[in-house]
Amino acid sequence: MGQASHKLRLDIGELGNGNLLVITGAGISAASGIPTFRGPEKDAVWRESDIRMATYEYFRRDPVGQLSWYLDRFFKARQAKPNSAHKALVDLEDWVERFGGTFQLVTQNIDTLHEMAGTRHLIKVHGSLERVRCSSVDCPNAAPHGSLPLPLEEIEAFRQNPSDSTLPRCPACSSILRAHVLFFDEHYFEHADYQFREVERSGSEAGLIVFVGTSFSVGVTELLVRLGHQRRVPMYSIDPAKGKYGQPGVTQISKTAETVLPRLVDALLHEV
Ligand code: NAD
Ligand code: ZN
Repeated sequence: MGQASHKLRLDIGELGNGNLLVITGAGISAASGIPTFRGPEKDAVWRESDIRMATYEYFRRDPVGQLSWYLDRFFKARQAKPNSAHKALVDLEDWVERFGGTFQLVTQNIDTLHEMAGTRHLIKVHGSLERVRCSSVDCPNAAPHGSLPLPLEEIEAFRQNPSDSTLPRCPACSSILRAHVLFFDEHYFEHADYQFREVERSGSEAGLIVFVGTSFSVGVTELLVRLGHQRRVPMYSIDPAKGKYGQPGVTQISKTAETVLPRLVDALLHEV
């Protein structure tokens, strides 16, 4: 076992009340070829434009521009495959449950790599690129409960000729369809699929909290760090960014997720 695994020292005793909460961010998918927003590998200008474009305000102003930008990222993410970190989290879930504990994974990622790897207890708190929803307010396909599978043919037609007339539309009310994701200027309670109450509950019941590949920039990490502090729960962050995104009271393991998580789980499985 390497230095990092020693620090995290996961054995069943470390799990406290038996409830393990893991929160992943874009960093866990970096080794699968999906760029992060704020990781060290990107230049500042592009990061700024990413964040401005991922807003509802931009969607209202320029839906053609936003969908074109989104689809660029979308096709990259759709081709990606889970890496060893995603797979290790599935083994970790099995291990925790074998000992009668509970495992909850909350991901900020909209890619589908945790599902593809086989994680069972998964909350996609920022939505999913595999679905869309209606942008109207009174439609069953819209927030707060509705969504639709991706209309792939319409998306392909839009890609060939991006314009107002080719924007994918809701089959029920003909309003423009939008990504089924939480934009930066929207709220976690806008859609039931974000399961924010469930995230709060997991944070209030966890015996150990492990953050993986997140820059702690948004509300969900802020909430979970606060809940962890209040309840004096041990917290770890696996992120190679050498303290840049460190949080007081969260022990940082400055290594990549794809290095640390498989080693940690290997060590656990061999202890049994
Ligand atoms: P972020 O881009 O703000 O931060 C990524 C973090 O991952 C950084 O701290 C970086 O140092 C770290 N990192 C880079 N490579 C890593 C590796 N190999 N192992 C471990 N950590 C590594 O991401 P965030 O905190 O998730 O917040 C960004 C927002 O953007 C989220 O809301 C998320 O929904 C969205 N986003 C999603 C994806 C995706 O679905 N894969 C990709 C980019 C952004
Ligand atoms: Zn509709």
